[in-house]
Parts: sequence; C-alpha cells; structure tokens
Amino acid sequence: MDCIFCKIVNGEIPSAKVYEDDTVVAFNDLSPQAPVHVLIIPKEHIASCDEVNEENCAVVGHIFAVAAKIAKEKGLSNGYRIVNNCGDEGGQTVKHLHFHLMGGRQFTWPAG
Ligand code: AMP
Ligand code: ZN
Repeated sequence: MDCIFCKIVNGEIPSAKVYEDDTVVAFNDLSPQAPVHVLIIPKEHIASCDEVNEENCAVVGHIFAVAAKIAKEKGLSNGYRIVNNCGDEGGQTVKHLHFHLMGGRQFTWPAG
C-alpha cells in the first residue's frame, strides 16, 4: 500500500519522532503551522476518522493520552489544539488517520 504514514511507521521514510510505543507514533509535521505541530498516528493503517469503529477505537483514546503527555513535555500549559481532518471536505490530504497537536500560539475559532 502506498501510504506515506505507513512508510513513516516502518522506517522507509524518515521523520522527526517525538514519541513511539507499540501502537502509535508521533512526529513533527513537515510543514508546521504553529511553533509546536506534532502528528500523532496509529501504527495500524486506518484511512480516516470515518473508518473508526468499535473494534479499532481504543487507539484513539490512547492517542489523546499521548497528546496530553506531549503537550506537557512541550510546555503547552496555556492550551493547544488537537485537529482531525476527515475526508475531502474536511481537508484531509494524507489518508492515514492522524491527529494534529498544535500549540505555542493563539488559535481562532471557527477554523477556516
Ligand atoms: P491533513 O491535511 O490533515 O491530511 O494533514 C497532513 C499533514 O501531513 C500535513 O500537515 C503535512 O504537512 C504533513 N505531512 C505530509 N507528509 C509528511 C511527512 N513526510 N512528514 C511529516 N509530515 C508530513
Ligand atoms: Zn497508512
């Protein structure tokens, strides 16, 4: 399967990893939109949020626990944003489930 995030998981494509365990990897976004911009992904290929179901959803909770840990390590004590873009209208460009952990600046709402 030609999936760039699967290739990051298996080491075929290099990444600046900030966290890794048995089920997830977190690495710096190549095109950061904030002083801290980390992508947290399941090692398992799940195409998008729309493919999350009762069988595979445990990793999503784990991703949020990892996000909180990374946010603390990065000193984001004033807050941060976690984003998931799902599907074409959601702005998803990489079809492997990922959560953007962004911080270090003020965000606005609603997001464009
Ligand atoms: P999305 O638009 O939500 O699908 O986000 C995809 C994100 O992946 C974008 O923010 C890209 O900058 C980022 N990205 C794409 N390729 C890489 C890569 N090889 N390493 C790190 N980040 C990447
Ligand atoms: Zn994948």
